[in-house]
Amino acid sequence: MPDLAHNLEAVQQRIARVAQQAGREPRSIALLAVSKTFPAEDVRAAHAAGQRAFGENYVQEASAKIEALADLRASLEWHFIGPLQSNKTKPVAQLFDWVHSVDRLKIAQRLSEQRPDTLAPLNVCLQVNVSGEESKSGVAPAEAADVAQQIAALPRLRLRGLMSIPEPAGSIDEQRVPHRLLRELFEQLRAGGLDLDTLSMGMSADLEAAVLEGATIVRVGTAIFGGRDYSH
Ligand SMILES: *Cc1c(COP(=O)(O)O)cnc(C)c1O
Repeated sequence: MPDLAHNLEAVQQRIARVAQQAGREPRSIALLAVSKTFPAEDVRAAHAAGQRAFGENYVQEASAKIEALADLRASLEWHFIGPLQSNKTKPVAQLFDWVHSVDRLKIAQRLSEQRPDTLAPLNVCLQVNVSGEESKSGVAPAEAADVAQQIAALPRLRLRGLMSIPEPAGSIDEQRVPHRLLRELFEQLRAGGLDLDTLSMGMSADLEAAVLEGATIVRVGTAIFGGRDYSH
């Protein structure tokens, strides 16, 4: 197991350093620890080191992990960040606190219908395709305002903001371009009357660029848990 406490501390220091550079309060940027492919014991160790919010991509894997960590449920926040098919929305609506990867209205409607009344509304972000690649999920920037308005009206969801997964880029200046696009879109939606507070952008390789452009949640896996092994 990697030294999770040390890695978490190092990532928090990266966030604090760039927040200071941007004139932002470090506490205004939440760290989401992306635990996909890592065992429940690693999440437990990260929790013991003070980490509370965890991101998962695969419904089956996440369900088992959430179950294995049921004793910690009251002090854990589970965020679904992976591609979501409409036949898999029910466990997500039942088990998670957040979904970052809502990429069409139909998914949002199902999550709203399936969110149990006994739980608080599900926090969601609309995923936007800021790189314009055919293969990437997310709504086109031009459609975002319309879809966001419709999601905001659903009774069992709370639309919190926007999320993106840009194409990898080399320099920090190149990394900032798609993040800036998402932030500008976020500001337009807020100016249009939507009550949004979340910009979910930035991962291990580009969290500095994301924080400089206004990220409020950075989603970090590799820099905390190490490299992922998809072979089993
Ligand atoms: C896996 C994943 C991450 C974490 O990526 P790292 O490069 O390991 O930090 C962040 N966001 C999403 C949507 C992911 O699927």
